[in-house]
Amino acid sequence: MSARTGVTHMFVPGPTNVPDRVRRAMNVPMEDHRAPDFPQLTLPLFEDLRKVYRNETGRVFMYPSSGTGAWEAAVSNTLNRGDRVLMSRFGQFSLLWVDMAQRLGLDVICVDREWGEGVPLEEYERILTEDPSIRGVFACHNETATGVTSDVAGVRRVMDAAGSDALLFVDAVSSLASLPFEQEAWGVDLAVSGSQKGLMLPAGLAVLGVSAKALEASKSATMERCYFSFADMLKTNDLGYFPYTPPTPLLHGMRCSLDMLFAEGLDNVFARHHRLAEGVRRGVDALGLSLCAVEPKWYSDTVSAIRTPDDVDGAEVCRIGYHRYRTSFGAGLSKVAGKVFRIGHLGDLNEVSCLAALASAEMSLADAGAKVDLGVGVAAAQEYYRNATAALEASRDGAGLVGTASVSPQ
Ligand SMILES: *Cc1c(COP(=O)(O)O)cnc(C)c1O
Repeated sequence: MSARTGVTHMFVPGPTNVPDRVRRAMNVPMEDHRAPDFPQLTLPLFEDLRKVYRNETGRVFMYPSSGTGAWEAAVSNTLNRGDRVLMSRFGQFSLLWVDMAQRLGLDVICVDREWGEGVPLEEYERILTEDPSIRGVFACHNETATGVTSDVAGVRRVMDAAGSDALLFVDAVSSLASLPFEQEAWGVDLAVSGSQKGLMLPAGLAVLGVSAKALEASKSATMERCYFSFADMLKTNDLGYFPYTPPTPLLHGMRCSLDMLFAEGLDNVFARHHRLAEGVRRGVDALGLSLCAVEPKWYSDTVSAIRTPDDVDGAEVCRIGYHRYRTSFGAGLSKVAGKVFRIGHLGDLNEVSCLAALASAEMSLADAGAKVDLGVGVAAAQEYYRNATAALEASRDGAGLVGTASVSPQ
């Protein structure tokens, strides 16, 4: 193992790197969460999160919980036990949401797809047209286990084409604040996220964007809910408070990370994620490897799940990366365990971070027995990043606007 100097390089697709500025912003004395001036911190956060979701007429809630809590909040507030819902399963996270829906007593129609594909739009349209009793339609926007992004606007389109008035539930945990997301325009009723991915914070806040329609549905829905109750949240949030003790340092961190995202500009954040991901994909391709995502239309700009050659164990690549090169890659989960390793490229990253990921991946792959030519993946990404960076600079008018990637001011 190498000496414990430098940093451990984090390329798991969550938790992501927390910028130094955000870490410092969280280092605050504890404060009274019922103090008269506490709403000065919280009310702008609720407002600004709606901007991130592009949710104009609904609400955004924050629960002290991991992202999974927002899955449960979304379901338990808006549906009834026994309601029929349409879901699809093509990776560990879409699988776990199906499992939760079943355990909460929903009548789940589940469409299984190969791990590497995403939400099947034609199948959804066919099922919705045949069965008008469906009350909820679920989509995993970005399947983190396989690096697959689905077309949420397309889900809304097929729901409308089928005349469905179901609620649309979207898992946006590994997409919000990294990939374009349009809650209002896409007609998303419940949009689940968490603090430790694109929002660049530690785990600990579940974030949930709720449409006006879903708020209305929560008034008559009968599933039991308590900790996650929208009504309890609304009553206190309206005044800037919570029904229980919120993790105040995380709220200060959220203030800082939202300020950073807005300073960069959300469109620039999305463009950066695309650019960084594309460089990683060029590198993977140059190494003669392929992605778990089976077609370019599914490629994720926040995480790449990379297939290892048949005789190379993806888990071994991760072990070697961690022990020899102090790099944390994402392991393959359940069905794709051992078959892939993942490079998370979301949050506080830049081009050189991604080159480091590729360099470490090349060494780990070679050590695990893969026939890769060292440097080939890195070189392909370097070439892409040089061109993309030059093009970006040329497209910016004013001089002095160099520094294309990092969201951290140094
Ligand atoms: C990370 C993640 C979750 C939630 O995980 P938690 O550990 O509960 O925060 C859910 N869905 C997707 C797609 C994720 O990437």
